[in-house]
Amino acid sequence: MLVDLTYPLAETDKSNWPGNLTFKLEEVSQDKKNPFGCFISHFNISMSEHVGTHIDAPYHFNENGWKTDEIPLENLVNIETVVIDITEKCISSPSATLDAEDLTDWELKNGPMPDRPLVLLRSGWSKYYYSDPNKFIGTSSGQVENLEFPGFGRTGIDWLLQNTNFVGIGVDTLSIELGMRQACYVHQNLTKHNKYGLECLANLESLPTRDFTTTVLPLKIKGGSGGPVRVVANLP
Ligand SMILES: [Zn+2]
Repeated sequence: MLVDLTYPLAETDKSNWPGNLTFKLEEVSQDKKNPFGCFISHFNISMSEHVGTHIDAPYHFNENGWKTDEIPLENLVNIETVVIDITEKCISSPSATLDAEDLTDWELKNGPMPDRPLVLLRSGWSKYYYSDPNKFIGTSSGQVENLEFPGFGRTGIDWLLQNTNFVGIGVDTLSIELGMRQACYVHQNLTKHNKYGLECLANLESLPTRDFTTTVLPLKIKGGSGGPVRVVANLP
């Protein structure tokens, strides 16, 4: 069974990083007024690389890291995936982090991680993506300093770097970490090792804990720091 982990890009999206250029779909044609006389639809699009369901390429925080078009397909297609659920602690703390203990607990219950996993954090935050964008990003002020949502913590990313050859991580929140709280530690240490991040993932609640694969296909932007991505899980 295929599960789409991607939100559609739409002008009505509100759960965006403050200040980032939001998605725009501008009509060029939606009628028969053209030299061919038949119906032709055609739009221009514009957006930040970092809105909606998107990838942070290693180049986002590492000047020598892979750019969007340089991430090898071997790191994107049919990747063994694990889901770490920290929903419970996020209910009492909107800035809860995925820490080393969450990963060791996960292994106790589920066995050793695959060697090259994609590691997804499930916080339960996706329920706010459409229903309450201010809750999703943690503020109505439009100030980056006031953002608040669950993400990876320092010990979580350190544990993954020490114990696995993971290719990337993903979250159902605005960003892989609350960068203000930890000086962008996760972004820097992830990208330093040419690993990628996936942000604003949808439908993580439909996924099992392990034993499935995910395919991650970013728009192939030459020189990009990230970009819109279609993420699809393939469940047995
Ligand atoms: Zn991003």
